[in-house]
Amino acid sequence: MPVKICPRCGKSSADVAFIAAFCKDCYLQRQPLYTLPDVELDRCVKCGRIRLQGLWLYEQHLPEYLKGKIKSNHVIKSITTKMHVDPDSKLAHADVEIKVVAEGQAVTLNDRLDFRLIKTQCPDCGLMAGGYHEAVIQLRGNPEKIERLLPKLVRRLEARTFISKIVEHKEGPDIQVGKKRAALETLSQMKVEFSTSNKLVGEHQNKQVFRTTACVRLE
Ligand SMILES: [Zn+2]
Ligand SMILES: [Zn+2]
Repeated sequence: MPVKICPRCGKSSADVAFIAAFCKDCYLQRQPLYTLPDVELDRCVKCGRIRLQGLWLYEQHLPEYLKGKIKSNHVIKSITTKMHVDPDSKLAHADVEIKVVAEGQAVTLNDRLDFRLIKTQCPDCGLMAGGYHEAVIQLRGNPEKIERLLPKLVRRLEARTFISKIVEHKEGPDIQVGKKRAALETLSQMKVEFSTSNKLVGEHQNKQVFRTTACVRLE
């Protein structure tokens, strides 16, 4: 490839990266490849999730969100982010790496997105703090098998919903689970057999509220 000389600053393509006829720096000064959006995010102080387009999600979903908001005349190949949150400040930032295709050439840029954080509590954490639970999973039977199953079950439940409390009884633990569907589906996915019963626990907005108990017997 012939050596190019930047018409603005005189640098040579033998020394620095070029985009089309200009060195990368001069090209970007003349014409930014993208504009980052102004962002203000709700963040749950309990679980650390942020609200992105109405959903409470973990930080790994931020790149996807930014990709939808960034303004550019070029093709954005990929975005990766690393968020930095100071618990005492309303301001946060993310280191952002953006891969853009400009003039047929892949360019990687490192940027910084500054944004405001609104500290709040997500609905799940709000319900959990209030002790809300739609289901109870009871583990009964062989104590050693209960001890083996409990941490695995808790981990899988917490990936889908929240656990309000674990109450230890002489016969085994009662796990108070936020969402009924998540509780039952998790047990089924783990191929754990259980029997269910429903109990009326009250009324809410003129509707009867039931709580489901799933009893797991480990022989
Ligand atoms: Zn230049
Ligand atoms: Zn939360």
